[in-house]
Amino acid sequence: MSTTTKKPLLLPAFFTMKCPSCRKGFVFQNRSVFPLGKTVAIKEKCEVCGQKLLSEKNNGAGMNYALTMVVFLLNLLWYCPLYISFKKNPNENWYENNSVEWYLASSIFVVIVLQPWLMRMSRMVYLYLYVSFGASSEATDKNV
Ligand SMILES: [Zn+2]
Repeated sequence: MSTTTKKPLLLPAFFTMKCPSCRKGFVFQNRSVFPLGKTVAIKEKCEVCGQKLLSEKNNGAGMNYALTMVVFLLNLLWYCPLYISFKKNPNENWYENNSVEWYLASSIFVVIVLQPWLMRMSRMVYLYLYVSFGASSEATDKNV
């Protein structure tokens, strides 16, 4: 209760893309996702605690695929009520019109628009998997 240094919360630090070790330093080189060529450029070390952030295996491609699938599923949450409310013929089934194609097209559009943030999030997931809070830099060197 009476700790002088308050530990920053995990989820806000994760979604604001802070260092997993101190949860204060920003992980990426640019605050903005633009320019897109440097979207996933990570700082070599955290400027607050010195935690090593950049590693050879730091590619979030598999995690990016998983996040893309999550976005596709989340798109169902807004697409289904929209589809049901705009359905012209109440006796028509979902496979008798182009609703699946519209769902896929809109989901692909959303995923493409969100891609820079999804790529950053997938890198963040890997960083938070490998680096725990308060970890020193030599502790993570063996994971590289
Ligand atoms: Zn840090």
